Amino acid sequence: MTTNKIGRVFSGARPTGRQHLGNYLGAIKNYVALQDDYECVYCIVDLHALTTVEDTLNLRPNTFELALDFLAAGIRPAETIMFVQSHVPQVTELHTILSMVTPMGKLTDLPTFKEKVRQNPQNVNYGLVGYPVLMTADIVLYKANIVPVGVDQAPHLEFARETVRSFNHRYNTNVLIEPAMKNTEVPKVLGIDGVEKMSKSLNNHIELAATPEETQARVMQMVTDPQRIRRTDPGRPEVCNVFSMHKLFSSPDEIAMVDRECRSAGIGCVDCKMLFARNLNTHLAPFRQRRIELARDMDNVQAILDDGARRARQLAEQTMVEVRAAVGLP
Ligand code: SF4
Repeated sequence: MTTNKIGRVFSGARPTGRQHLGNYLGAIKNYVALQDDYECVYCIVDLHALTTVEDTLNLRPNTFELALDFLAAGIRPAETIMFVQSHVPQVTELHTILSMVTPMGKLTDLPTFKEKVRQNPQNVNYGLVGYPVLMTADIVLYKANIVPVGVDQAPHLEFARETVRSFNHRYNTNVLIEPAMKNTEVPKVLGIDGVEKMSKSLNNHIELAATPEETQARVMQMVTDPQRIRRTDPGRPEVCNVFSMHKLFSSPDEIAMVDRECRSAGIGCVDCKMLFARNLNTHLAPFRQRRIELARDMDNVQAILDDGARRARQLAEQTMVEVRAAVGLP
């Protein structure tokens, strides 16, 4: 890793396969930018995925699809460590050790745990309860001092910080580093339904790697201002998801034009969407071209993940030597 950086970032992403616009704006774009100032450790968390994924058949292809998206978006594997969680077995060892300093009540009180129980009461497994402990192990194993988190993940990071303090206090050591939260301004990206957050499971997403034609077809399905029924009805861009997207992908002149012409019914929703689809496709064209080229050599993607895992294991083992000594394991 390079040394002219101001800290080390860790972040984990579930192997959910091809990524969508919400993933890109909410996480991937930030991952790419962080590389300029930080040593970055990006982990594809396949073990975490096991807490909720029952059919593991797609775990492997989904891991590669995610890796392709990350690389095409600008993750630089020569400097950034990108790897698969289960390729570093030390994480499960640290998870076990940290679980001994973790009160059960703290885990079951976490809002995310309660939410998961509500969503799927039939599948409350031990791994699901211990999920934040594994997440803590992920972060501290690589001695990351910065973790980019959105508001919904903040309680998990606070939990990680408390766990580090408990461990260091219990074993009278300072081996583990308390990670700091880097609050990331995550725009809430709505799906094409204009109501729910963009999500693959809700099928309201726009895939980054889709063709321009597929992208345009998805954009044309986007829900607009519900009060604009006829072409002659004036619209309200402030309530329209298409306009929110224009603000992210269109030029200032185009944004101003849509804002003005929508209100006066000077532009119809079809033309407005066509303009957005064109701008989105233009924006994603270099990404898509890189992705096609990367996908031609999947052995190279495998080699990148293998090399990432090798470098991650080196960092992990250094930490574990100190942890085992601090705990007093024989
Ligand atoms: S013209 Fe554009 S901004 Fe206005 S309601 Fe239609 S899609 Fe939305």
